[in-house]
Amino acid sequence: MSKVEDFLTSEEEQEIVAAIGKAEKNTSGEIRVHIEKETSIAAIDRAVEVFQHLNMENTRERNGVIIYVAVKSHQFAIYGDKGINEKVSDDFWDCTKDIMQKHFREGHFKQGLIEGILNAGEQLKKHFPYLDTDTDELSNEISKG
Ligand code: CA
Ligand code: CA
Repeated sequence: MSKVEDFLTSEEEQEIVAAIGKAEKNTSGEIRVHIEKETSIAAIDRAVEVFQHLNMENTRERNGVIIYVAVKSHQFAIYGDKGINEKVSDDFWDCTKDIMQKHFREGHFKQGLIEGILNAGEQLKKHFPYLDTDTDELSNEISKG
C-alpha cells in the first residue's frame, strides 16, 4: 500500500464523506480529511500547512478541524483552528487519536477514519453545538495530496 489511491476505494471514500456529514450534524465545527502519500516533516506541522492551504480558517467560529494522514509515512495528525484551541486543553484530541490509532494498527483504515470523524464531532459538540442556522462552511470531500 504505497499510493494514496490504494488507501481507500471510492466506495469507502463516500462512506467517509457521509461520516463527515453526520458528524457535522452534531456541531457547528467543520471537519476535513486530507490524505497524501508521505511527509518529510512532522505530521502535525504538515497538517497545519494543509489546513492553511485549504483555507480552513474560513469559518465563522474558527472551528475547522483537519484530520491529516500520510499513508506511506504511517503518520497522522489532528489539528483544530484557534476558536477550538481557545476553549480546550492540549489533550483534547487524544481520545480521537487513540481510536484512530487502534484501527490503523489493525489495518482498518476506513473504520479508523470514520470513527475518528464521529468522535471528533462528539468532542466538538461540547463546545460548538449544532445551530439551526448551520451551513456547510467547508467541503466534506476528501482532499488528496
Ligand atoms: Ca457546518
Ligand atoms: Ca463540512
